[in-house]
Amino acid sequence: MSTHQVINPATEAVIATVPAASEQDTKDAIARSAEAFKTWRNVAPGERARLLRSFAQVVEANIPLLAKLEVENSGHTISNATWEAGNVRDVLNYYAGAPERNFGKQIPVANGVDITFREAIGVVGIIVPWNFPMPIAGWGFAPALAAGCTVVMKPAEVTPLTAMKLAELALVAGIPQDVFQVVTGSGRVVGETLVQDPRVAKIVFTGSTEVGTSIMAKCAPNVKRVTLELGGKSANVIFEDADLAKAAASAPYGVFDNAGQDCCARSRILVQESIYEKFMEQFEVAVKNVKVADPTLDSTEMGPLITAAHKKSVESYIDESLVAFRGTAPTGTGFWIPPTVLAITDRKHRALSEEIFGPVVAVTTFKDEADAIELANASEYGLSGSIWTNNSARAFRVARGIESGNLSVNSHSSVRYWTPFGGFKKSGLGRELGPDALHAFTEEKNVFFNTDI
Ligand code: NAP
Ligand code: MG
Repeated sequence: MSTHQVINPATEAVIATVPAASEQDTKDAIARSAEAFKTWRNVAPGERARLLRSFAQVVEANIPLLAKLEVENSGHTISNATWEAGNVRDVLNYYAGAPERNFGKQIPVANGVDITFREAIGVVGIIVPWNFPMPIAGWGFAPALAAGCTVVMKPAEVTPLTAMKLAELALVAGIPQDVFQVVTGSGRVVGETLVQDPRVAKIVFTGSTEVGTSIMAKCAPNVKRVTLELGGKSANVIFEDADLAKAAASAPYGVFDNAGQDCCARSRILVQESIYEKFMEQFEVAVKNVKVADPTLDSTEMGPLITAAHKKSVESYIDESLVAFRGTAPTGTGFWIPPTVLAITDRKHRALSEEIFGPVVAVTTFKDEADAIELANASEYGLSGSIWTNNSARAFRVARGIESGNLSVNSHSSVRYWTPFGGFKKSGLGRELGPDALHAFTEEKNVFFNTDI
């Protein structure tokens, strides 16, 4: 079997060698998954719930190990990686409550009884990117397993280690063999096979808009179900009536968390022109305070980028003549870029429209509320965003006006596992998380029983 080397992005050291599965290996996994579905779908709801709680407990016991693996493999800070492993536990616990609550409806009809059922959809292929390997995996597999689906999951080739560990932990927890499988390898081979194979009933994909749209097209011939979580170019909109000190102090964390490799990163900062100078002064102090360092240290706030190639792509956006100020980062080995702020006046500049996916933020100004909404919406994306104002009527108006799936007012929070998450426009299709996540893994069936017989 061919293999792939896994590299620590903070040190550039090879830390593991993992299998690169072939098309046949992937098809074999799909066949086993389809076989396992026949029994898993019929496991009693209470028993599926118990197994998911058991999985959550095993994850809980392994949080330090999972976090360490993620720091080494992805360069995530130890505090972020610990939170991410805890998120997998929480999402499993949350959806462990779902099998017994997978309700249908009873709808009044003449001469009979009409009932709806939510039937498990079948084998689900989950394709995970490298930026948040653990949470994005869990948001797919936890509700899928709760619904009675079986899962074949493909992590990104560069970040497979926590996914492989989670598959081992599922077995330790008592999840039956082949119900949750992880197949490591490339998108071109393993990903494509999951997308093309008619035995896979649904694809859950998170990653670039480019690959997501090609997957959607390839799912069409089989009318294969698809959930897409794609890119973003989210706006952090700061009005003159905002608490400026808080808006400026928090702005770096709205974009530079995970070194900006976050689909929800507020990578455009839109500031009302009347407060622009004051904002930039305070923002500069905050950016220079971001602790970019060895991700194994508890005090570190930002680590390296994922690969040398990705670092190069991010650097291509850094036009020196537009740099307002920068933070600091280690030099030498590792794929480091300091937090970088670009001041942009040309509204057509590509740094204001393209997803950079690194620690580079574009700041520009707006005149009034209408201009702010127009500028925020001048994007093909619509995933996330923040609105800073102390005028609550304005906060509601702007929140309703911005075309985006996840907004926060006077904060940068975006993802809670018990609230729905997903994008408008080219940021995606469908929703993950929240109370209705099982709808994405079930088909609604309507049955009429004639009582007039
Ligand atoms: P990507 O190519 O979209 O990769 C995401 C996942 O899809 C990976 O597991 C990848 O596998 C797989 N994949 C790639 N080509 C595929 C195909 N033809 N069929 C099925 N699966 C396929 O993203 P990337 O190249 O890693 O990153 C490029 C850009 O995408 C980033 O710079 C960023 O702008 C954006 N991005 C967004 C998110 C997000 O959360 N929305 C996440 C990651 C990246 P392999 O990588 O193992 O080949
Ligand atoms: Mg790619």
